[in-house]
Amino acid sequence: MTKLRLAIVGFGKIATTRHVPAIAESPDVELVAIADPKATLPDVPNFPSLEALLKNGPGIDAVTLCTPPQVRSAQARLALEAGKHVMLEKPPGATVSEIAPLLAAAQAARRTLFATWHSRHAPAVEPARKLLADRAIKSVTIIWKEDVRVWHPGQDWIFEPGGFGVFDPGINALSILTQILPQRLFVTAAELSFPANREAPIAARLSLSDVAGLPITAEFDFRQTGPQSWDIVVETDGGPLTLSRGGARLAAGDDVLVDGTNREYAGLYRRFVELTARGASDVDLAPLQLVADVFLLGARNIVEPFEE
Ligand code: NAP
Repeated sequence: MTKLRLAIVGFGKIATTRHVPAIAESPDVELVAIADPKATLPDVPNFPSLEALLKNGPGIDAVTLCTPPQVRSAQARLALEAGKHVMLEKPPGATVSEIAPLLAAAQAARRTLFATWHSRHAPAVEPARKLLADRAIKSVTIIWKEDVRVWHPGQDWIFEPGGFGVFDPGINALSILTQILPQRLFVTAAELSFPANREAPIAARLSLSDVAGLPITAEFDFRQTGPQSWDIVVETDGGPLTLSRGGARLAAGDDVLVDGTNREYAGLYRRFVELTARGASDVDLAPLQLVADVFLLGARNIVEPFEE
């Protein structure tokens, strides 16, 4: 099988820490170029923009867009128009409505649009989904709290409009939630805390539910120092199931069922290769829709200014 010739656009933290190693391990994908205004990578051609890459670069079959969400849809459109398959980092865009035209363009061109949700590929997520399929669920509690200064240093885009603020990590929890529960979920209440000097929330409290009235609460906070929390606790008729470490670990009561290592991005590239072979797309907007609804419904608090 010939390898998928891939370029990464936006060569920042996630591109370097996760995509490059996952591509190096993938037998079916070859990294042939990158595009980023400043960052560089030895041994492959580097370009300052996607436009320059498409004009002057080597032949490519696909791009992975690891840019901030605000610039993603224009780049996806350009790449699809150039006949390339497109993998989108999460969130798939800065708005819900920008995705439909991209999907239509991909389908018309028989190219792949893959909206990735890396956390769904964490090792305990599929086992949790299977276990929950056989249980009655009583409640869900999500605690997703991390220190933005540790995990997102220098990423000014995150607090700009369309940057998602604390929903940049929080949407990962919602991507797991919407994967492990089969029913459709919706937002019933939300409270968003915006730093006085920023355009995106630094913390949020959400309530969600389903048609049967299942109580789901979530607390997201970017100001967490000390231990970090990426936990989802599901109370069931068979006792509590706890997904922790962002979906890497699963426990039923005190029994640890899964304690895995992070291979999320290898899973994403396997799926991308599978999709590109058929020119098929995989776009699930459920997590993005929930975040958009939180912004529609949420009460706003103004909190102390955030300085890095
Ligand atoms: P980042 O470190 O800020 O990297 C983004 C890169 O894109 C930067 O090098 C930036 O350059 C570049 N860029 C900006 N505009 C561009 C353009 N028009 N064309 C080409 N490159 C451009 O951010 P990140 O943490 O990698 O996050 C990127 C995306 O991945 C986000 O959607 C995030 O949610 C997702 N993600 C991040 C993580 C994580 O742990 N960091 C995990 C999973 C997913 P400048 O800095 O010079 O602007």
